[in-house]
Amino acid sequence: MAVMAVQTAELREALERWFGFPTFRPSQEEIVRDVLAGRDVFALLPTGGGKSLCYQLPAILTSGLTVVISPLIALMKDQVDALDTAGIPATALNSSLAYPELRRRLDGLERDEYKLLYVAPERLTLPGFSDDLERWNVARFVVDEAHCISEWGHDFRPEYRRIAPLRERFPGVPFCAFTATATARVRDDVVSQLGLRAPAVHVASFDRANLTYRVQHATRTVDGLIRWLRARPDDEAGIIYAGSRANADKLADALAGAGIPALAYHAGLDAATRSKRQEAFIRDDVRVMCATIAFGMGIDKSNVRFVVHWDVPRSLEGYYQETGRAGRDGLPAECVWFFAYGDIARIERFAEEKPEGERAAARAQLERIKRFAYSNGCRRRELLAYFGETYPHAQCGNCDNCLQPRASIDATTDAQKLLSCVYRASAQTGSGFGIAHVIDVLVGAKTDKIDRWYHDRLSTYGIGRERSRSVWRNLADELIRLGLIAQDPARHNIVSLTDAGRRALVERSAIVVREPAAQPSVTQAAGRRGRSVPSSGADDETYDRDLFAVLRALRREIAAERDVPPYVVFSDAVLRSMARDVPRSPAELRAISGIGEKKLADFGARFLAAIAAQRD
Ligand code: ADP
Ligand code: ZN
Repeated sequence: MAVMAVQTAELREALERWFGFPTFRPSQEEIVRDVLAGRDVFALLPTGGGKSLCYQLPAILTSGLTVVISPLIALMKDQVDALDTAGIPATALNSSLAYPELRRRLDGLERDEYKLLYVAPERLTLPGFSDDLERWNVARFVVDEAHCISEWGHDFRPEYRRIAPLRERFPGVPFCAFTATATARVRDDVVSQLGLRAPAVHVASFDRANLTYRVQHATRTVDGLIRWLRARPDDEAGIIYAGSRANADKLADALAGAGIPALAYHAGLDAATRSKRQEAFIRDDVRVMCATIAFGMGIDKSNVRFVVHWDVPRSLEGYYQETGRAGRDGLPAECVWFFAYGDIARIERFAEEKPEGERAAARAQLERIKRFAYSNGCRRRELLAYFGETYPHAQCGNCDNCLQPRASIDATTDAQKLLSCVYRASAQTGSGFGIAHVIDVLVGAKTDKIDRWYHDRLSTYGIGRERSRSVWRNLADELIRLGLIAQDPARHNIVSLTDAGRRALVERSAIVVREPAAQPSVTQAAGRRGRSVPSSGADDETYDRDLFAVLRALRREIAAERDVPPYVVFSDAVLRSMARDVPRSPAELRAISGIGEKKLADFGARFLAAIAAQRD
């Protein structure tokens, strides 16, 4: 393996020429250098961190073939399309190819026409494939999504175990492993399973500065979700994660019924339907995907503008991975968890029903995710802490708790009223009531239920008249959060006092709660503008939206002609820059980050014409 010593200037020039980027993202340059130096590499970068460039740039700069092992055909196809469009010769071999096409690619490989080859791990053990590789002059093996090799990860692929034997067959060829998800245990496992030799280890920050994190504690309704979606620009695509197939279907139907293009995606659908729907999402043909976590790894779509969690994420790690699918292009994106207390209680019950051996782990995961949801602190800080990283600022300025801090207030008197009302309503009859009924009693409402149970005779009837229902609702949520009131999901979420609640009532303890969150406004984007602390660096607010729409339509047209996803032509970030800078010449166009030589040559004229037409 020829060891290359390259100058910074040379690297920058290649980056600019082939990818059109003026600078490296954090860790990219160091990784590229280690790959070029022929070292084994283990690199852990967050989703959207720009892993592919770390091996694609070295592939261009060295002789020989870079063999990339990738778990999914869809991912390979995306990568090859993207490389093709950038003018970098690449191909993939997989089981979906018809013989003539396969033959064509194999011939190309024999003729040394490609810099990169993508393959599934299964192929590695096909008879004769190693001999083929010998002839093709392999410069390095790259293992993408390397966590798939570990049983400790959440995407274990037994086929990945077929990679290690290559080491013996190709003792002189370096191995590079890339992943976005690895705990320390998975990291060690990857290194040992692949037999990496004194690897250069790179662990980039897991901070995704362009993602806004919010946990929305307001009452969760499908209508609320629809309003939230309607308030967003209708050219924004996103994913809604539901906890079950039924919920995914239900949400997709509701959204479609409200005129929002949406589809469901889950493991209950047949493979053909799944891939058709995934394709529709990737190609910007459908706006919203309502999905279970079955939807994820194959999604390289860079312009996912929001990720909503409708149910409780399985774990904080899962939450981070799922939200991580938003904003890969580096532009601002929203991650909102529509939180409902009842869900937590339900999951708590599931955790208790698990077999003895798994119970403790399930409880611990739930505790973490619960702490995150209930926290008053900076969410980014907490997420990063979970991955063992210390966020260097006290506040990120880009999560709900930083954007709209909630003050603590002494709510002892109101809390006493509420606790006492819960106590009386349930004690009187031995039957149970939900929180909505308790609040009806407090505000002195007249309902059938109140009549039927003579609840207007309770001493707490109407004692909370002076406050609105939503104030009581927030207080109830807070008392649930503080563990003073319990909800029983097995019995229609009926409420009762916990031991702590009873004690607080008897002892008249002081109770401090958080003020209600400012109603998440429709114009949440406004929060971004006021952001002070670290920003993603993408100033996206000042671009011509009409021009952007025109450019987007042109991008879609070109993508359809070439049969590739739109973001392969240009990312949203590139189109926004065009709509902001309004370039008039090829040189001005070329100055935009993300437009390399090949794309300028292929698409420049059409985009300049569209911009000129719009300007007149
Ligand atoms: P990952 O595989 O780590 O999730 P990708 O390789 O798909 O990330 O890159 C994510 C996005 O970032 C892509 O749209 C890519 O073009 C872009 N990107 C990568 N490197 C850079 C860079 N140095 N400057 C600007 N954008 C970059
Ligand atoms: Zn924050």
